[in-house]
Amino acid sequence: MTFDRAAKERLVQALAAPMIAHADELTSLDQAIGDGDHGLNMKRGFEAVLAMLPGVADKSAPEMFKAIGMTLVMKVGGASGPLVGTFFMEFGKSLPDAPSRADLVAAADKAIVAVKARGRSDAGQKTLLDVLVPVHEVLAGGGDGAAIAAAAADAAERTIPMLAIRGRASFLGERSIGHMDPGSRSTSLLIVAAVKALEFEAGS
Ligand code: ADP
Ligand code: MG
Repeated sequence: MTFDRAAKERLVQALAAPMIAHADELTSLDQAIGDGDHGLNMKRGFEAVLAMLPGVADKSAPEMFKAIGMTLVMKVGGASGPLVGTFFMEFGKSLPDAPSRADLVAAADKAIVAVKARGRSDAGQKTLLDVLVPVHEVLAGGGDGAAIAAAAADAAERTIPMLAIRGRASFLGERSIGHMDPGSRSTSLLIVAAVKALEFEAGS
């Protein structure tokens, strides 16, 4: 996968678009089991990331992801801002400009470890980790863009019957069951957008 200037610009635009287009949907998911700010939080954060174009696409991959992550930490706020921001910052840290599949798998692994540490959380607790972890498995297994996108969408759906054990939704106890986790939905939208923008091929 080449990750040149054009691909970086495409990626930033692709990530921001669904956060802006789906802000109302993310807000209503968060109204059901949280405080109803997730759509606005993510929209604000990714509008700020979008405003970093064109300059941010001139940076090296690690510098670009660091800048995106820091902006998300500052602008998204809530519980999700530091978690999503940490993911981007850690993901970029050791990423070369022409990453192999193995480079992406290793980068995502480190980023997930960092998110777990920051959130004191793990998969199975009805959080965005319930999308990140299964998607990482498909990426590591050599799945193509369609398989990765499908895994992300399925994983978000699978949070519906889960009991929330972390985050604001956990205050609801059993009443958190039956609703999709808002952070899982936004994470799946970001992953679907990223694989479309970057044209993943199986095994490569
Ligand atoms: P807040 O809960 O502060 O209002 P948001 O509404 O922006 O923040 O984000 C809520 C999302 O953040 C949840 O749907 C969940 O996916 C994620 N989240 C919350 N707490 C944690 C945690 N400890 N670990 C992982 N993800 C979390
Ligand atoms: Mg919220």
